[in-house]
Order: sequence, then C-alpha cells, then structure tokens
Amino acid sequence: MTDVLTATDSGLINSNVASNGPTLTDFVGRARAGQAFDGRTDLIGLSREELTEILSSLGESKFRVKQVWNWIYNRGVTSIDGMSNISKKLRERLEQDYYIGRPVLTADQKSEDDTHKWLMRFNDGNEAETVYIPDRNEDRGAVCVSSQVGCTLTCRFCHTGTQLLVRNLTPGEIISQFMVARDSYGEWPTPANGIRRLSNIVMMGMGEPLFNYENVRTALKIAMDGEGISISRRRITLSTSGVVPEIVRAGEELGVGLAISLHAPDDDLRNELMPINKKYPLKELMAACRNYPGISNSRPITMEYVMLRGINDQPEHARALAKLVQGVHCKFNLIPFNKWPGSDYECTPTSGIKKFAATLNENGYEAPIRWPRGRDILAACGQLKSESQRLRKSRACAREAEETDASPAISAAE
Ligand code: SAH
Ligand code: SF4
Repeated sequence: MTDVLTATDSGLINSNVASNGPTLTDFVGRARAGQAFDGRTDLIGLSREELTEILSSLGESKFRVKQVWNWIYNRGVTSIDGMSNISKKLRERLEQDYYIGRPVLTADQKSEDDTHKWLMRFNDGNEAETVYIPDRNEDRGAVCVSSQVGCTLTCRFCHTGTQLLVRNLTPGEIISQFMVARDSYGEWPTPANGIRRLSNIVMMGMGEPLFNYENVRTALKIAMDGEGISISRRRITLSTSGVVPEIVRAGEELGVGLAISLHAPDDDLRNELMPINKKYPLKELMAACRNYPGISNSRPITMEYVMLRGINDQPEHARALAKLVQGVHCKFNLIPFNKWPGSDYECTPTSGIKKFAATLNENGYEAPIRWPRGRDILAACGQLKSESQRLRKSRACAREAEETDASPAISAAE
C-alpha cells in the first residue's frame, strides 16, 4: 500500500500554506462552497445554460461557450489563463469574477488491489472522499463519487450514517471529484475512442444523492455532455436508500442506471435497519422501481443487499426477496458487511453468502457478490468518511496543540 499525503494548490489557496495544508483558521468564515476566498465563482459546475448567460452578458457568442466548455471539460484546463485560443481580453475579464480550480488533495492512497482513494478539501475546509475502483479483468473502472459531507440518514449498518450531515456538495464539488481522478490518470483531453480507464461513474460515495438531487443532476448532466467529459448515461449508476419522489424525477430527467440499497425483504426489518423505510415503505419503493424509465428494455436495476449475519441472511429472506421484486427488471448485488468500530453487526460467513446467492439464482435472479475492494485503505462500501473524520480529528488535535488560540471546529453548515 502506498500512502501519500499531499496538498496541491488549486490556485485558490496561497501556495505558502499548501505545503503543510491550510490550517483550520485559514478556512473559517473566509470562503463559501463554490467560491474562492476572494468571492470569485468557480466556472466548474455551472450548467451550460448558466455559462451561456455569463458569456452572452459579456457580449460573447454561442461559439465562445462551446470553446470555454471544451477547455474545461474536454481538455481539463486548470486555469482561465490556460484557455489559449480565447482572447487575452476575455480571459482577463473572466478572471475578475471567476476561476477554474480543483479541490485541494489532502490525501492520496492506493490499495494493494489498486483501488485508489482521494480525500478532497473544498474551499470552506470541508472534505469528501472519492474512490477509483479498477475492473479486475479489463482496463477500465468506476469512480465512486460523494454527494454530501456526511448523511442525514442513519442506516444502522453504515458508518457514514453515524456522522451528521455537514452540508450538500455543490455541482462543481461533485463533478470536480471526477475531474481530479482524471487529472491523476492523465485522461485529458477526453479520449475520443471511448477507451478510458475512468470509464464509469457511480454515485455511491458519502451521502444520499437524492437528498441533494438538483446539484447531483447538474453535475451528472455535465458528466454526460458529449462535448465534454462524455460519459454515457449507461455508464453512470446512482445509488439511493429509496427517496421515492426523486427516483421518479431522476428517471425522467437523467435516465442513468439505478441502484437501490434494499437490505431487507420486509418493512419490519427494513424499518429497523433503514429508518427512511418508515417514510417510503417497500410497496412505494417497488412501484417506483417498476416504473423507472427504460428498465424493461435496457439495464436492470441493481438491488444492493448487505449481508448481516443472523439478521437478513437466511434462505427464507432470499425467497421473500424474490417475491418482493416480482415484476421489477433487476438483479441483486450482495455486499459482504464491512465492519467498523462500534458497529452492532457481523458479516455473514462466505459459505452463507454463497448459499444466499444460490437461493436467489434458483428463484430466477442474478446475484453476484461484490467482494470488498480497497479495505486496507478504508475505501470499501460503508467505510467512507470514517477515515477523513479520523484524519481531520487528528489534524485538529495536532493543531490545537500547536496553536495557542484554539480554532473553532470546521462544521460550516450552510
Ligand atoms: N446513500 C446511498 C449511497 C451510498 S452507496 C445509498 O445508501 O444507496 C453505498 C452502498 O454501501 C449502499 O448500498 C449502502 O447501503 C452500502 N453500505 C453502507 N454501509 C455498509 C457497510 N458497512 N458494509 C457494506 N455495505 C455498506
Ligand atoms: Fe446514508 Fe446511504 Fe449510509 Fe444510509 S447507507 S446512512 S443513506 S450513506
């Protein structure tokens, strides 16, 4: 395992603090999400319509919008000044109010199995984790992107759920996680032949993406734009705990692949494991899945199912699941439970997981097992955030010891 702690300068933070990482006091009260310390706005994360508005207010044509879009999302430029075929005058004008940047990379870790995890710090000091999971057999893989810092939901088996929601990520903060991954693998400009190591996006990082739906929608529309990052909707999967009204919207407005964190075959058990089920019970959730656009003729919905020993892992649970999902074009994905300190649960033994998969198969459903990746760097499902909180805590402790005046904690809720 390599473990490189770095702090790169996005141009937003003085380079004199970047070498040791900005301190807590560097952030507090100085910048808001999506803005630099000096109040300028990040061009990354603006929709095409917003960019068009900005440029037309400066008297620029639609062609210029295309050029700027291409620089940012096809060529991955990291500064306005780098857009060399745009006139110096326009670049200078844009630089007065805008910037193009990247989050500061505060940790960069590679697992023994090549899973790669980055801890990214945004302008207000909040951090989120992003993970690249290369395919074991092919030269491609998925970037797992976070949508929130923390989570409002409290699923009992999930470590992220034990931490309060700090805030939603902006569209720029969501898409820039993928862009940092591309920087790291040198995949700019967007490979025209479609062969890329970073081939897929999964919204399976920290947070509930459908509780930050609008920002996620803007970010994914940017990802899908054929003149930029150009990842097709078939290569994007959004995972949700089951926010029914937004499932319907996401289907209509984005049409990306859908994964449902199901984890129980009946309301009683699901209420216990996932409190959101009390608001949107299984009947409503299954109806939303049945109506999810495009599922009958294309990709099946993925039903994610965490294997918890003695809780939801018996053959009768598997048979009840098969009944529950009748009429939904879906497959299961069995996730061995990743334990975290203080968790109440144990993982089902491998033999039990295989038996459970076989029972689902006998009932007509595919049920591959998602063997954990990147466990050594805490990048596996349900482990995200714990590490960054630990890192943040230890940094804060170290600084508190260093600094004579104790800094306020960074928990900048919006
Ligand atoms: N909030 C979204 C996105 C998170 S995706 C959602 O819940 O769908 C991460 C997946 O890992 C979800 O299916 C989640 O239920 C699952 N998960 C959470 N904690 C886990 C743990 N400790 N072990 C294994 N899987 C876990
Ligand atoms: Fe939030 Fe998803 Fe974890 Fe539930 S499983 S607490 S929704 S991140």
